[in-house]
Order: sequence, then structure tokens, then C-alpha cells
Amino acid sequence: MLRNDQLDQWDRENFFHPSTHLAQFARGEAPSRIIQTARGCHITDRNGTSLLDAFAGLYCVNVGYGRPEIAEAIAEQAKELAYYHAYVGHGTEASITLAKMVLDRAPSHMSKVYFGLGGSDANETNIKLVWYYNNILGRPQKKKIISRWRGYHGSGLMTGSLTGLELFHKKFDLPLAQVIHTDAPYYLRRKDRAMTEAQFTDHLIAELEALIEREGADTIAAFIGEPLMGTGGIVPPPAGYWPRVQEVLDRHDILLIADEVVTGFGRLGSMFGSDHYGIKPDLITIAKGLTSAYAPLSGSIVGDKMWKVLEQGTDENGAIGHGWTYSAHPIGAAAGVANLKLIDDLGLVEAAGKNGAYLNAALTDAVGAHGQVAEVRGEGMIAAIEFMEDPDKGAFFDPSRTVGAKVSAALLEQGVIARAMPQGDILGFAPPFCLTEAEADEIAGKTKKAVESVL
Ligand code: PLP
Repeated sequence: MLRNDQLDQWDRENFFHPSTHLAQFARGEAPSRIIQTARGCHITDRNGTSLLDAFAGLYCVNVGYGRPEIAEAIAEQAKELAYYHAYVGHGTEASITLAKMVLDRAPSHMSKVYFGLGGSDANETNIKLVWYYNNILGRPQKKKIISRWRGYHGSGLMTGSLTGLELFHKKFDLPLAQVIHTDAPYYLRRKDRAMTEAQFTDHLIAELEALIEREGADTIAAFIGEPLMGTGGIVPPPAGYWPRVQEVLDRHDILLIADEVVTGFGRLGSMFGSDHYGIKPDLITIAKGLTSAYAPLSGSIVGDKMWKVLEQGTDENGAIGHGWTYSAHPIGAAAGVANLKLIDDLGLVEAAGKNGAYLNAALTDAVGAHGQVAEVRGEGMIAAIEFMEDPDKGAFFDPSRTVGAKVSAALLEQGVIARAMPQGDILGFAPPFCLTEAEADEIAGKTKKAVESVL
């Protein structure tokens, strides 16, 4: 085994880490942590430090770490058939079985699933399908995509544009011209503090209508949104939001893409966020929870309405010119099949709802009354604490104070990982669904100490 100092040197000399301050890392000023093993909700680094991972990696290891059922399925698949492509009608038992399992769990009007590798490429696929659809229907001008400020949909060229967070645009010449953004459904950050939640929903719908009016419905192809906004701050939608958005989109013949990369397969305590909030999307993006991150795999689930037009398109134009070498990779598919079986066998969707409610209540008990905690919010197994200078006056902290990052660091010192969300002073929690009550109590107790040490 390599020595830790050797590995650290190679790491800083050779490895381009995503979402990292590259210069500080290269100079050795930014922390590095090399992870060695993981079980349940805990990861252990090369120094033997064990950490309670209250963010399940990047909210993806939904069934918890170290599940032998999934590891064995991957090993078996690699021995039997490590790879074959899925082009021109090829398949494997694993990929076909997984497609059936996904469709059995998806809302009933969904028709087919295309498999990719990660959430970003699945959303790139979705936008291409939306454009193809409108071209086949003979309306080539209907191409713009509405996304929300603070939404997160990936960091490719199109998906980085859909993402409504400044960090992912700055110096990359994004967003691309076809993307237009509307307001985030974020009640705590409403401009008019006197607005009730219901009035805020009215305001969001009026903004959306005004945007459509300004741009022209005949130029807008689709609206994309996460059922519960994740990376933008872990923000459940305000009351009545989704049915009203759906009504506006239907009226203007604009497709709806539900980005369920985080919410798909149980995180909200329902199989899909679309079911949870009563949304009827035309496309659903899935990734993370599809394999619980045991192997990279994503999917674009296509609804009936679009599917018919895609078939018509290939009758008119020949095979669809879209595919990755690793689409429906058999090892990813085998991981997905084992993962979804495990979720069923252990009742993990229900567990996410029950254990998540316990965690949410424990966090509220621990810090909800603190004068600079503006909100403890969440749904199922995802929660956030947002800090404000003066919640009663609606005053947020100056970003230069990096309060969220400091609380996250203070928590890490006690051995718990919670994520400082990229925009705002928000501490995010999204542990594996199998989180025990003792672990939830530990997270809450240590969070209280961390908050008190910073504020
Ligand atoms: N969509 C959502 C809602 C996400 O949260 C993410 C990643 O966090 C993505 C898309 C992009 O997925 P990936 O990082 O696998 O490309």
C-alpha cells in the first residue's frame, strides 16, 4: 500500500478535482481527504478517522455504504459480461430488467427509459429530445428552455446553463442563449416580507406567465425543475406551487421535465418526487438513487406523449442520432437492479420518510430556537438549516462571513459531514435512508454544538 504522504503528493501534482479551488489545492492550502472504506452511514479515511456521512456522498448513497448484495451483483456482471453496447437494438439481461424495474416504479404515463451515465448527461439528452420533438412536430422555433434561478441540473454546456447558480456560470460564458430563468420558489427569500406563502405562489405563477408572455409561448419548448430544489438550498416548494406550474405549462403547450436526480427512488419518502407533489412530467431525469452511486448510471424516462413523436421521427428520418458508448452499461445496470431490489426488500422508501421525519424533528429541537437560525426545513430524508443575521428583519449574513461553511467545518471537526450549500448560509443534510435514531441524535447534538461555536 502506498504511504499517505506519497499519495498526497501525487494527488496535488496530478489530480484535477471537480468543484475545488485549484490553486489553493495545488499549493497545499486547501484540505485533502483520502477515503479508504465505508459502511452504513460512516466513511473512514486513510488516517483511520471515521466520519458520520450526513450527506450520503453527494446525496447519492441512498442505501448506505458497503452493501454486499450490490457489490456481488457488480462482480458477477463483470465476470459474466463486463461490457456490450446498447446501439441498434443490443441489450443485456441487466439493462432490460432495469428498464422494466424503473418503468414499474415510475408514474404510469411514462413509457421508456434511456440510460446514460450521470445526471448532467441525462439532462443533455432530455433537452435534445425536447428539440427533436418540436422539430418533428414542425415547430422549429419552439426551443427555449425555462429553468429556475438556484436550480441545479448539471455542469455541461446546456445543463450548466440550466443550472441557476452563479458559480457554475462565472467565466464559462454560460448560460447559453436558449435558456431563460424564472424566480426560485424560495419563500424565505421572497422580496416582500409581508407576502404570505399563498401570495408568494401567486407571485411565482404571475412571474412565469409574464416570462412566457414576453418570450412568446411559441418559442418555449420546456420547463425544467427539481420537485424539491436541492443544491440551490434544499428548498421544498411553497404550498400549491407544482399543480399551478403544471396548469400554466399545459395551457401553453410547454413540456415539463422533472429533474429527479436527487428525489428519484425515495429521498422524499415517496418513490418519485413527481408522485409526492402530484406532477405529471413529460420527462423525468434520474441518476444518483438509481444505483445508490455503486456505479455511474443515469436515465431519461420519456412519457407517452413524447414517445409517440420520437417513433414518428425515426420513421421519417431514420435511426435517432443520439447515444453514448456507455449507455446502459451492464455493470451500472446490474448495480441498479440490485439496488432497487434492496430498496424494496428493506422498505427503504418508507424508511426515508420515517427516519427523515425523526432527523428533521431532532434538528428542529436542537437548533430551531436559536436566534440566527431562520429555518429548519426539509421533506423525507433531506433537510437544511438556514442561518440569517436577523431573521425577523429579513437580514441575511454578508456572504464574506461564510457562516454556513464555518458551521459545516465545526461539525466536521466533531466527525459529522453536512454540506455547506454553494449559495447562501445553508447547511444541508441528506444521509442514507437507513440512518438510525442514534445517528440522527448524534447529528443533531453535534450540529447544536457547531452552531453555538460559530454564532
Ligand atoms: N440534476 C440534479 C437535480 C442534481 O442534483 C445533479 C447533481 O447533483 C445533477 C442533475 C447532475 O448530476 P451529475 O453530477 O451526476 O452529472
